[in-house]
Amino acid sequence: MVKVLMDRAERSANAQGSDFSIFQTTVTLEELVRQRTAELDAALRRNEAMTRALADSESQFRSLVNQSLVGITIVENGVISYVNDAFCRILGYSSRELLGCDPLIFVCPEDRESMQESIRKRISGEIESERHTMRGRHKSGHEVDVEIHGNVMDLNGKRALISLFVDVTERMKVEREVRKLQEELLEQSRRDSLTGLHNRRYFEQSIAGLLAAPTGEVRPFALIIADVDHFKGVNDRHGHLAGDAVLEQFASVLKRALRPDDVICRFGGEEFVILLPGADRDVGICVAEGLRARLQATLIAVDGAQLTITASFGVCAFSMDGATRDDLLKRADAALYRAKAAGRNRVEGDA
Ligand code: GH3
Ligand code: MG
Ligand code: MG
Repeated sequence: MVKVLMDRAERSANAQGSDFSIFQTTVTLEELVRQRTAELDAALRRNEAMTRALADSESQFRSLVNQSLVGITIVENGVISYVNDAFCRILGYSSRELLGCDPLIFVCPEDRESMQESIRKRISGEIESERHTMRGRHKSGHEVDVEIHGNVMDLNGKRALISLFVDVTERMKVEREVRKLQEELLEQSRRDSLTGLHNRRYFEQSIAGLLAAPTGEVRPFALIIADVDHFKGVNDRHGHLAGDAVLEQFASVLKRALRPDDVICRFGGEEFVILLPGADRDVGICVAEGLRARLQATLIAVDGAQLTITASFGVCAFSMDGATRDDLLKRADAALYRAKAAGRNRVEGDA
């Protein structure tokens, strides 16, 4: 086309002289406009392609964020400015109900203070990110355990809080059940199955704890060994089950008479060991005397009949004298032996 115009211009120039240069300028300008228009068209097409790609990428990003199992919130100026679908699902609210709200409304009252502190630290710049768990309140009222990964970001020149929420309710439930089970197993391993009293293993831990207390916190304590008198005779006359019932009765006498701080253990067979924290030898003897009298006065129903039993007691005390567990057991045992030898149904103190 340019070629045709130039030819025509040349012919016209030959005919009209100076008009040729005007015509030539016009043609050059037209060519420039054509080139520029083509460039702009190309730029426009590129821009449209980029805008389309951006929109696609944004919609992909939005659907990714909304399909995510992780709840996401943005808090600006103290209120929620963005929530994704997962966050709404975790707490049972719609985004409309949450947008513009104080982020603490979905936190259980007991955890509000720590959540507020986390928000304050992130806003003040004290910390950039943190991870913690808290109990949220679902719209229908039940508690939801959530793990929060909190971060900070710059939005419109201001610090905004972006937080990721993972629903860990099931995990926490299982963890709590496992912990409870472990505690129950531990407790079982420290108990005697017949009487429900603590067992020898617990006694060992308790006396070790009392003896190993840090200097300055060591307290005196009394140790009592009790042994049922002529217990073999009960088994022989009334049977092993009756013997078991006697042991259970003795255990309940001990439980009812002693304080929660006292350690009552079935040491084995018909032998019981008691630790009285804070008690000296005389208090130990007095307590043992009370137990002896109570047991003697207890009627035990066996096979339709009622029988009474007695026990003998040996008492000693630890008073920061450097005595070991073995020393104490030996001393209490020696006292018990004397009680038996002196006729049974007696309390004897450490010499
Ligand atoms: P002493 O007055 O000298 O203490 O005599 P004892 O008969 O009480 O003592 P001995 O050591 O001769 O007998 C203890 C009996 O306790 C023997 C054993 O069969 C019985 N025994 C140990 N554990 C149990 C138990 O769990 N249940 C029952 N029924 N009997 C038990
Ligand atoms: Mg006995
Ligand atoms: Mg015995």
